[in-house]
Amino acid sequence: MKVPFLDLKAQYESIRGEIAEAIQQVLDKTAFAGGPFVAQFEKEFAAFCDARFAVGVGSGTDALWMALLGLGVRPGDEVITVPDTFIATAEAISYCGAKPVFVDVDPATYNMDPLKLEAAITPKTRAIIPVHLFGQTANMDPILEIARKRKLLVIEDASQAHGSEYKGRKAGSIGNAGCFSFYPGKNLGAYGEAGAVVTNDEELDRRMRMLRDHGQAKKYCHSYVGWNARMDGIQGAILSVKLRHLPDWTEARRRNAAVYDKLLAKVKGVTAPIEAAYGKHVYHIYAIRVADRDRLIAALAEKDIHCGIHYPIPVHLLDAYKELDHKRGAFPVAERSAVEFVSLPMFPELTTAQIEAVADAIGAGVEASVG
Ligand SMILES: *Cc1c(COP(=O)(O)O)cnc(C)c1O
Repeated sequence: MKVPFLDLKAQYESIRGEIAEAIQQVLDKTAFAGGPFVAQFEKEFAAFCDARFAVGVGSGTDALWMALLGLGVRPGDEVITVPDTFIATAEAISYCGAKPVFVDVDPATYNMDPLKLEAAITPKTRAIIPVHLFGQTANMDPILEIARKRKLLVIEDASQAHGSEYKGRKAGSIGNAGCFSFYPGKNLGAYGEAGAVVTNDEELDRRMRMLRDHGQAKKYCHSYVGWNARMDGIQGAILSVKLRHLPDWTEARRRNAAVYDKLLAKVKGVTAPIEAAYGKHVYHIYAIRVADRDRLIAALAEKDIHCGIHYPIPVHLLDAYKELDHKRGAFPVAERSAVEFVSLPMFPELTTAQIEAVADAIGAGVEASVG
């Protein structure tokens, strides 16, 4: 049975009429760059996140960069994050002229290990960016406690965690700022590039609104050097439509994950993801771990089942960061999971029959490799 890793078409078909209408409205108003449709989405997304403000920007990478700049991170600063993430988290730090410093992840949740955080703090540390990997939040209370004690900022990378919760609090609303990506494949995906920062800090909201628009609050009165990181109007209108469906899509992902959990519990040699007691996982990615990852992916591909790897190389070992001079073995949990991770097909429209086909094929594939 063909099982794609992701099926954006199935979702689009289910909202085709609403999307066409939303795009037509933007065309009729010629509100293409920023404007009323972005402002409307910002209001709705802030409410969704239980936050006071949301600032729409051009991508998740922009969101991280604008949040760091808005909070005053500067050249010479250090910002702590995890190696088990997409490179954008570290890139945004680098683009502020700051240095990314890594802390290994927890072996059960693959998120920042709070027990290893304090050892990474130096007098230059300004901020901490926990990444809510795969749709599950990091264990925020101990991170917030250390940040408070050491007077550090906390910026959540919630790019994979739209609607996820930590002890009843919404991802993105917990730290000084929360950054989201609306890349098409994310749980809330635009039909192009987009991102947002949410915050309860009114001053930060004001600064980021200026930063994303060439440092101006009033047209052509540029108070400082900013950037063009505006969200485009069509994406704002599309995201408003899709946000209305997100709670249903999240529940569908959770149901799909529960079916995987049940079927994979019977397969020896597979470590399935766990949902921590503190939170609500939204399963952007359903990643299992197996000993012979490449062989399993090849066996599944032969049956027309398509998987991903998030991520094959941890950030500290990427060529892009070779100047940081990290050696293999520096962050063993992240390094081991990078070798063992397989991201299974996961999207709201996945059928039970498809999940069963994937689980069967994994059973056959893993047993073959165990011998
Ligand atoms: C997708 C993603 C980003 C970057 O978002 P873009 O919209 O692609 O710029 C940043 N961090 C994480 C963890 C992501 O998954």
